[in-house]
Amino acid sequence: MFRRFLTVVSVLALAVVGSVTAHVLAPEKAAADGCYTWGRTLQQGATGADVTQLQIRVAGWVSSGENLALDGDFGPATAAAVKRFQTGYGLPATGIADSATYSKIYGLQDDDCTPIHFDYSEFDNNCGANNYLGGKVSEATAKENIRRIMWQLEAMRHKLGDRPLNVTSGFRSVSCNEASGGSSTSLHMYGQAADLGLSNPPQCTMWNAGKTAGFEELLGPGYPGHNDHVHLGNKSTRSWSAPNC
Ligand code: ZN
Repeated sequence: MFRRFLTVVSVLALAVVGSVTAHVLAPEKAAADGCYTWGRTLQQGATGADVTQLQIRVAGWVSSGENLALDGDFGPATAAAVKRFQTGYGLPATGIADSATYSKIYGLQDDDCTPIHFDYSEFDNNCGANNYLGGKVSEATAKENIRRIMWQLEAMRHKLGDRPLNVTSGFRSVSCNEASGGSSTSLHMYGQAADLGLSNPPQCTMWNAGKTAGFEELLGPGYPGHNDHVHLGNKSTRSWSAPNC
């Protein structure tokens, strides 16, 4: 997102909203973005790579315990997530990704397609290596997995009242994970987990917020080794534990 550009986009968006209210015609089109531009309105029944890109952006807007499939298939779950996203940002909750929805997303993303409040450099410490190498997946896959987590965290951050979230660990190589005392099956080696430190909202608040942000692995206070952070991860089966919450 270019900041000056965004201002122009916002003004245009207001103008578009105004003209639609007045005339209710002419298909609206959100302005192009430096990261990714959607070329059509998306609603239930749509399929394609542009649906997957949308799903990544709204994956943190699920109901408790839900995990949105990033499958390029716009079904009821995607519509519900889009609705929650729209409500969360004060837009009409239509469940249809229209130009107002895209304008909001464009305002939330940087040109590298990460959300504005998170960056790859926050997740790549990797025991001081500052890269995404040496894990159980390729560098590209690790970065893509982390990018998806960033969008879930962006949603969580907004729902917690726009409070900054401090990432203390993200991707780890196999050797880094071993040195950090991580489990031998740790999702950190896949770029599918992030730890949030204590200089954040209260630990149990973060742990609970992870439930409605699509995280199937949530470990917090009272779980061995997790009294000083909350661990959030993406996988297909549920592991939630924080006995002290
Ligand atoms: Zn962790």
